[in-house]
Amino acid sequence: MRMPSAPYSSALAERLAPDVLERLVRYARIDTQSRRDREESPSTPGQLDLARLLADELREIGLDDVEVDANGYVTATLPATEPGAPVVGLLAHLDVSPDAPAAGVEPIVHRGYDGGPLALPRGGTVLDPAQMPELATRAGHDIVTSSGDTLLGADDKAGVAEVMAAVAYLAAHPDLPRPTIRVGFTPDEEVGEGATLFDVERFGASCAYTLDGSEPGELQDETFTAAEAVVTIHGHDVHPGFATGKLVNAARLAGRILAALPADLAPETTSGREGFIHPYEVTATAATATIRTIVRDFDDDRLEEHAALLRRIAEEVVGTEPRARVEVDVRPQYPNMRRFLDERPEVTAAAEEAIRREGLEPVRVPIRGGTDGSQLSARGLPTPNLFTGGHEYHSVREWASVQEMAAAAAVVVRLAGVWAERWDGGAPSRS
Ligand SMILES: [Zn+2]
Repeated sequence: MRMPSAPYSSALAERLAPDVLERLVRYARIDTQSRRDREESPSTPGQLDLARLLADELREIGLDDVEVDANGYVTATLPATEPGAPVVGLLAHLDVSPDAPAAGVEPIVHRGYDGGPLALPRGGTVLDPAQMPELATRAGHDIVTSSGDTLLGADDKAGVAEVMAAVAYLAAHPDLPRPTIRVGFTPDEEVGEGATLFDVERFGASCAYTLDGSEPGELQDETFTAAEAVVTIHGHDVHPGFATGKLVNAARLAGRILAALPADLAPETTSGREGFIHPYEVTATAATATIRTIVRDFDDDRLEEHAALLRRIAEEVVGTEPRARVEVDVRPQYPNMRRFLDERPEVTAAAEEAIRREGLEPVRVPIRGGTDGSQLSARGLPTPNLFTGGHEYHSVREWASVQEMAAAAAVVVRLAGVWAERWDGGAPSRS
């Protein structure tokens, strides 16, 4: 069954929609799954395939300085029509998550979604609006899914497609005022390395926006502060037949540490601005056990308290057994971008203005995660995150709305306009 398609947020969005959709489908078919514990950048060759394709397309569109650098970063310049405006960056990531199958993605477009369960042809996957409240409200939208046995890769190929469609539109309309725009596509975001080798200096933008969010209107200027804490327990291994009074089992000690972690400090029991300690991988033998955890909070001091609590619990549990030893290594991962963005309020304000011009209400929700922008903001390139219209990331149920992707591309076009007006943070003024 089919409904009449839902309206677009603007005539501009409607105009951009076919290009955004066509690009998403094309990019999604390239397997760009990244790999943890990478040995080189990018971690997988498929990301380079997409990088080279995008570079070719950027040249065709007419951008300058198109480059794929040795680490797989794609950059390009769309020159200003309004000289003097600040240089604005647009970023999205090339890779898709290693947490779901990503080879052989075959996107399906469900025009005029009827609001019922969407049964996909492969893997027995059903997108059931009863379980998926966001999908339930998208009756009438043109919905893109995978075929059911892979992720879709809207995270972040929706973002890539929106940036591409927006710059193609701007390049074809030199009459529209725009600042100098720097485009950047980054590898290995999903494995936490998207910003690591990003050359902020060479990129040369005064601020940037990642397109890597979800819900229409979303504008994220706050992320978790993040650390990884690895607990290593050394027991004393003895053949079980001769173990009486001698064996100290590291695996059992690990189990006691896990049991002692507060239940109300977990991702599954917290929300909003609450932080957590999340053990995500445990390997254990009688001799040695390792508990890998991530520690998160929006507040740096509270993050340190969580890490200190983990350390105290580990030391107390292992301390009951004098022949065992424990080490707790805490490594910072990324900082909350908020304090860096607070120093440049005009960056978030410009995005709010662009979202409003598209007829949407800006939604500022802290991200319970990080983005490339977390590290880039800390490194001097203030980079909030914008929505893409993709949903249910990192799963075979991932989907995206064409109407919302088009709205995101339209917001990018409008953002260029806002900056070209020599945006001063409150009163857009034409000079
Ligand atoms: Zn992403």
